[in-house]
Amino acid sequence: MSSIAFIGLGNMGAGMAANLAKAGHDVYAADISPTAVDRAVSAGCRGAASTAEAVRASDIVITMLPAGAHVRAVWSDDVIPNARQSALLIDCSTIDVESARFAHDAARAAGLRAADAPVSGGVMAAEAGSLAFMVGCGDETLGEVEAALTAMARVVIHAGGPGAGQAAKICNNMLLGVSMIGVCEAFSLAEKLGLAPDRFFDIAAKSSGQCWSLTTYCPWPGPVPSAPSNRGYEGGFLTALMLKDLKLAQEAAARSGAATPLGAQAEALYALFDGLGHGQKDFSAILQLLRGKLTELQSAS
Ligand code: NAD
Repeated sequence: MSSIAFIGLGNMGAGMAANLAKAGHDVYAADISPTAVDRAVSAGCRGAASTAEAVRASDIVITMLPAGAHVRAVWSDDVIPNARQSALLIDCSTIDVESARFAHDAARAAGLRAADAPVSGGVMAAEAGSLAFMVGCGDETLGEVEAALTAMARVVIHAGGPGAGQAAKICNNMLLGVSMIGVCEAFSLAEKLGLAPDRFFDIAAKSSGQCWSLTTYCPWPGPVPSAPSNRGYEGGFLTALMLKDLKLAQEAAARSGAATPLGAQAEALYALFDGLGHGQKDFSAILQLLRGKLTELQSAS
């Protein structure tokens, strides 16, 4: 069992830290929100008076923060100056590749080992300990990173060297945003053509249009009972977070010179949907924008 500083106990971090404590680790919980720390303590963690205190007490440091600027600041100001020389630093936030590499470089300059390990799976997976981690680190660090993440994970996949975990996360979520819009457009067209949506689902699910956005997370209410479309698009993966990830993908595409025209369209559509006030709905609710039926969405909430 290890001593672990967990920094950033929000929607995701709360469940992740609780699972580490449940697995028997000594988890030192730190957050700028005292309420978040209190919640972690009631889930079995130890409260830390500051991030620095949590880091000083721990062999492993995990951060789960909103964006790249937070990770750069917390790692530079609180984590690296206070880390034990043997400490392993892992950032699980979703951030830009440049910030991830900045964090790796700062750790390496201080003689510390580091990994970027963003996750696939939302708040429910964080609570259930069934997240998929995409890890960027050297081969020599991977075994320790896997051991540190096990209590929170369904699977841990090594994406490559520093920053590769974030690159994988950004590419995966761009694909997800594009495929969800594709599925929604297909339902919208099927409806206009007089094709029963349930019948279209049955056919596409067994044909070449089959994909995760259709058969696991169907945006049309009915065919997949566990999908957010059956509960007024509440919970799930928020439109605001999909938009964040699509922006990261477009920034990465601009920097690297990759052509991602459908990713750009997906970002524009999700920005419009978010701007219309639906940022807190699950991202599959964009179906109702494409159908021209936003009023149905309002009456569902
Ligand atoms: P959140 O806003 O709920 O939580 C972030 C936490 O960080 C908050 O408790 C906040 O108080 C804390 N924080 C901010 N600045 C801090 C600082 N300087 N020091 C200490 N604590 C600080 O966000 P979330 O939904 O938990 O997401 C966290 C990360 O996980 C994000 O990068 C997000 O993109 C990613 N992610 C989220 C989901 C999801 O479904 N929510 C899914 C996959 C990935």
